[in-house]
Amino acid sequence: MTASDNSQKGQPPVWRAALFALCPECGAPGLFLWPATFRDRCPSCDMDSGRYNVGDGPAAFLTMIIGTLLIVAALTLDTLVNPPFWVHVVLWVPLTVVAVIYGLRVGKAALLASEHQREAAEGKKQDD
Ligand SMILES: [Zn+2]
Repeated sequence: MTASDNSQKGQPPVWRAALFALCPECGAPGLFLWPATFRDRCPSCDMDSGRYNVGDGPAAFLTMIIGTLLIVAALTLDTLVNPPFWVHVVLWVPLTVVAVIYGLRVGKAALLASEHQREAAEGKKQDD
């Protein structure tokens, strides 16, 4: 089964499910209950998100990537404009919180959609 086969069944592609927090089974919005916490079940198709093992794997990588990008941006701004310290606080603190939460949502939704489309589960082999 390929990704295009899944799209033909009404399932969103992984990139769209990740960016817009869509259910990988029916494509309905509302995959998350809290900023980065999955709902137990999809309100439209009753898909159980608990059967997938997404965990917090993307958290460390996303935090390091986002932290690196924001530090480079802050240092560049400071070098070019040299704003007062409060500008850095007002600008970078909320931007960091939003970027980390949205990055986690996208990363976790991408993993969940990938596992769903590949029918991944623990202890399952293709040869069996
Ligand atoms: Zn659904």
